[in-house]
Amino acid sequence: MGNIQETVLEIDLNALKHNFEFIKSKLKNNTKILAVVKAYGYGTDAAIIASHLEKLNVDYFAVAYAKEGVDLRNVGVKKPILVLHPQPINFQSIIDNCLEPNIYSKRILEEFIHIAEVNHLKEYPIHIKFNTGLNRLGFKREDIIYILSKLQKTTAVKVTSLFSHLVASEDLNEKDFSLNQINTFKEIALELTKTLNYKPMLHMLNTSGIMNYPEAQFNMVRAGISLYGFANEDALTKQLRNVVSLKSVISQIHHIKKGESVGYNRGFITEKDIVSATIPIGHADGIHRAFGKGKGFVTIKGKKAPILGNVCMDMVMVDITNIECNEGDEVTIFDNQDTVNELASNINSIPYEILTAISQRVKRIVK
Ligand SMILES: *Cc1c(COP(=O)(O)O)cnc(C)c1O
Repeated sequence: MGNIQETVLEIDLNALKHNFEFIKSKLKNNTKILAVVKAYGYGTDAAIIASHLEKLNVDYFAVAYAKEGVDLRNVGVKKPILVLHPQPINFQSIIDNCLEPNIYSKRILEEFIHIAEVNHLKEYPIHIKFNTGLNRLGFKREDIIYILSKLQKTTAVKVTSLFSHLVASEDLNEKDFSLNQINTFKEIALELTKTLNYKPMLHMLNTSGIMNYPEAQFNMVRAGISLYGFANEDALTKQLRNVVSLKSVISQIHHIKKGESVGYNRGFITEKDIVSATIPIGHADGIHRAFGKGKGFVTIKGKKAPILGNVCMDMVMVDITNIECNEGDEVTIFDNQDTVNELASNINSIPYEILTAISQRVKRIVK
C-alpha cells in the first residue's frame, strides 16, 4: 500500500517556485509579477499558493471576486490584491479588506467613487481596465474624457494601474490582432497619463502573452496558468514543472461476468468477463461526466484504466482487467502536464478547466 489512502490533490511548492522563477527569467529586470490566484489558485489552494509566492517576493496578486480576496486577507496575505471582477455589493468589503478593484465601467467608477467618499478615503488604489477587443469587461477608448472628468473631481481614489487583456495571446495566427490591441492600449495609456499628473503602472500580458509578446511587458505581467505548470505550447510547458497531482485509491474490486452491466443506467455492458475497480472520485470532485464511457482514465501500476460507463457523483468505475492490483492500491488521475492535456482534449476542454474543476471536497496536501 502506498501512502495515499484517499483522494488527494498534491501541491508541489518546489515546482511552483521553479515556475515563478522561470516566468521571472522571461521578464526585464524591473518588470513586476502579479500572480493570478483566482478560482482557488486554479483549483489548488489559493492560501497555500499565495503564502508561498509572498515568500518568493511576488509583487501583486489578482483574484476574480471580492470574496476570494477576503479569504486571502483572512489567512494573512499582505501584498496588494487586485479584484478583477468586483460588484458594487462588495465594495465595502473590498475597502475593509484593502483589496483593489478593477474599475471597468462608468457604473462601477461612479459607485466606487461614491463609496470611497462616504468612507472618507484618500487616494484609494483602483485599477482601470480598457476593452481593446475582448468585449468582456472594460472601458472603451472613447471613455477617456469621461474617466478623467470623474477622477479630477475627487481625491478619494487614485489610479494605481491601467490594464487590458489580450484576446488570443496563445494564437500566433492572430498576431496582427494582438499587436493591434497592444498598440491601442499604448495609445490609451499615453492619452490618459498625459492629463493625470502621475504615471499609473501598465499591464497587459497573461501567460501566453508573456511568452509571445515580450515587447508588451510594460510595468507588470499577470501570470496565471504558468505558475501551475502549463503554457499553451508544449515546448514551454516542458520547461515548467507540474504543480498539481490528483491521486486516489482503489476502494473495491469487482469480477464481472460477460453480459452484466456497470454503473448507473447500465452505462457499460460487458462483452466478456472483466475486472473493475471503484475509485472514490466523481463528478462532484471535478471528474466531469463527459469523462464517462472511456473518455477519461486513471493510471494504476503505470497502466491506463479507462472509465467504465457513467461517472457517478462520488465515484468512477474503471477497467482493471489487464492490471495486477489490489484494493487499497494507489491510483493516479494525473501527475504530469501531458496527462492533463490528454484528459482535456478528450472532452474538448483545456487544462484551465480540468484544474479549476477539482472541488473543495478533495483534500489538499503540500508536497
Ligand atoms: C485569468 C486572467 C489572467 C491569467 O491568465 P493565464 O492565461 O492563466 O496566465 C490574466 N489576466 C486576466 C484579466 C485574467 O482574467
